[in-house]
Amino acid sequence: MLRRMSLFHKREALPAVSDETLDEVLEALDLLAPLEAGSLTCPTCGRLLTRANIGTLSGSPSRPLVFCDASACITGLRDPVKDVGGSTC
Ligand SMILES: [Zn+2]
Repeated sequence: MLRRMSLFHKREALPAVSDETLDEVLEALDLLAPLEAGSLTCPTCGRLLTRANIGTLSGSPSRPLVFCDASACITGLRDPVKDVGGSTC
């Protein structure tokens, strides 16, 4: 678990991980079910997230945010995220 959570401390794009590892991370964050249900979207652009277009994890372990791989969304992480309740992290 600690190893998975360490992803958040880096605050950068996910390293190249296998689908299995990605699933483990997403499951640990309770994000695997919404991903598979097709209800997980990028909080920046609203694009539906799939295993193929997940770009970055951010936020905190208690409030994880998953962004798509669009460069604008990854770059946008430097700015406050709008549309997610204005939490700071
Ligand atoms: Zn996006």
